[in-house]
Amino acid sequence: GGVVLAFSMAACSGDGAGSGGDTGDKAPGDLTIGVSMPTQTSERWIADGNSVKEKLTAKGYKVDLQYAGDDIPTQSQQIDQMITQGADVLIVAAIDGTALSGQLQAAAEAKIPIISYDRLILQSPNVDFYVSFDNYKVGVAQATALLAGLGLQNKDGSKGTATGPFNIEIFAGSLDDNNAQYFFNGAMETLKPFLDNKSLVVKSGQTRIEQAAILRWQQETAQQRMENLLTSTYNDGTTVDGVLSPYDGISRGIITALQNAGYGASGKKIPVITGQDAEIASVKLINDGVQNSTIFKDTRLLAEQAVVAAEAFLQEKQPEANDTTTYNNKVKVVPSYLLPVVTVYKEDITKALVDSGYWTAEEVASGQ
Ligand code: BGC
Repeated sequence: GGVVLAFSMAACSGDGAGSGGDTGDKAPGDLTIGVSMPTQTSERWIADGNSVKEKLTAKGYKVDLQYAGDDIPTQSQQIDQMITQGADVLIVAAIDGTALSGQLQAAAEAKIPIISYDRLILQSPNVDFYVSFDNYKVGVAQATALLAGLGLQNKDGSKGTATGPFNIEIFAGSLDDNNAQYFFNGAMETLKPFLDNKSLVVKSGQTRIEQAAILRWQQETAQQRMENLLTSTYNDGTTVDGVLSPYDGISRGIITALQNAGYGASGKKIPVITGQDAEIASVKLINDGVQNSTIFKDTRLLAEQAVVAAEAFLQEKQPEANDTTTYNNKVKVVPSYLLPVVTVYKEDITKALVDSGYWTAEEVASGQ
């Protein structure tokens, strides 16, 4: 229940919030929204793109939806093209948060408002609005799930019955994605008291984000790092009890490495492994008791907020923010609309994911 603040023009620095080139009087059919998404290798971005497109199309707008294959030059080029083809608003989920300043400058000069989608675009004065989830809380929720899975805490954060010490390893997301730092900080600050009193031990010693990061959030890279950790650190008969993972794809890479090393069979318990995004393959793994949990971020709600913000700009108004202090992109604080996140354990799958229509029971059972 956050406080809703109206973002007023007075609070706007006036540098980037182009109100579009006289879009207020045009019919939706004469307006185009450019939607730039990072990749199709993770299903959340496909769902995001589809939801945004569907909702805008239903209102009569034209939509130019592009995926950049996790390639930075491709994304820059796609945005350049949206600008030259006369987009009236841009919705952008950046691959690299710092790589789009040139494009954003060109958009601002053409008076095209820019909505940063899910990931904050950094080092540019031309980010007009940010729609996302509470990314710090994602990290807190992941760490809380890890602690609950190990029994050091209960799910509500109260003291659990276990005392440890437990061996854990830490994974983080892609360093060029601003969110990765928020997830990591939220998680590490939550784990800190347990690391300090040694009920949790990162046996490899790799606790810095630079050591834990997985470029482009790739599953194979995560699998490789977990294999390396098992070889370097757990060849002495000790076992991994928990793994903090920031994203379901990374979790699946970690799980593969662990299963290949005999975890999950003949008395060698699979560690407590966290996740994010409620990807269907991972929801099945949670249902099967292999993965501990995931953080569900309803992309339908995020898409809805992006559409609300886009429409406000098209009507030459400022979208309504519910956070105007958190997200500093290193040039300015970007007014934001942040959505809440939901932890999903096995027992929550039906209520959170099936009853809400995100996945069907059949999809959960089959994992696809
Ligand atoms: C998103 C996560 C996602 C990750 C990898 C982050 O920016 O916030 O939901 O798991 O990217 O795609």
